[in-house]
Amino acid sequence: MEVGICIAGGVNEFSHVDLSLLTEVGIGSLFVGCYENEMRWHAEEQAAFVRSAAAAGFEICVVPWGYGKVVDPDPAIESLYVDTNRGQLQIDSRGRRCAKACPNNPRFLEWFASNMRTTAWMLDAHGFLWDEPSFYFSRGTWACRCEYCKRLFYAAENYQMPHELNEHVRAFRRFSIVMFVLSAAAAVHSVDPRLYSLVLPSPTLDTSQDHKGTGDWSLLLDSPAVDGLALYVPWQERQADPAQAVRELHALGSRGQRNTNKPCHIWLPGSPRPQDRVTANLLAAHEAGVSRVVLTDYSTMFRAPSADRFVPLLRETISQVTQ
Ligand SMILES: [Zn+2]
Repeated sequence: MEVGICIAGGVNEFSHVDLSLLTEVGIGSLFVGCYENEMRWHAEEQAAFVRSAAAAGFEICVVPWGYGKVVDPDPAIESLYVDTNRGQLQIDSRGRRCAKACPNNPRFLEWFASNMRTTAWMLDAHGFLWDEPSFYFSRGTWACRCEYCKRLFYAAENYQMPHELNEHVRAFRRFSIVMFVLSAAAAVHSVDPRLYSLVLPSPTLDTSQDHKGTGDWSLLLDSPAVDGLALYVPWQERQADPAQAVRELHALGSRGQRNTNKPCHIWLPGSPRPQDRVTANLLAAHEAGVSRVVLTDYSTMFRAPSADRFVPLLRETISQVTQ
């Protein structure tokens, strides 16, 4: 098993990241958050950090955040694109614009692809992770009913898009997300065909309820644009037993493979706090046959007050699971 870490703090975090400590602990890959609004003004700092980490031997995966908030697990992450392009945002089932661009809007797609080409060109990474590409969903309302989505739905189903989220609409949303990932992967491939693309579907321990468009992992794994999945284990939010949740998610990922054998990484919340059970969870993932665990994130793990005391234990556990 390989162990990676997510660096989510943006450019301000980079000066605090101790790369030699990460090497010493046994971490092999960095998943570096790359914010839309920061890339406007701090692309050079971002590039310099990625360069030094790659030179130190880490595998680097870029995780774009913001960017019209289509790839955006955290509503708090700002997007200048969303603030300035209201007309390209998703429209929910009550007719309101949501704070999320529409992945079917051709102007947004063009802007997104152009930004990803620039990012791929500037940052010398090994791959990209598309973090929760999704349609808006909240308590009974859903998106998107913009003119492009309605037109595409009609072309696919031969009837007007209904007001309820029926199975045809769900299938249309899933297909739209796959097409969005395809165009994102094509954008970075045009810069370097070796760049891999991973998708982190909206976290769930129950894939029967697809609210955001990424519930069918088979569809994602079948896509030639997707080289693997990253599955976040929401055990704390769901008050589930973490070892059990890791096993279930890993099994679900394996079951999603129809004719593929693509890696399904597991993402785990990481901190030295005993209640986060990082070492026990790493061992459980190893036992379950997981090929890579990514701990999230650097700040909660290594900048926490008790990090110094925890590091030797973490190093010992990682050496045990990476053998
Ligand atoms: Zn739309």
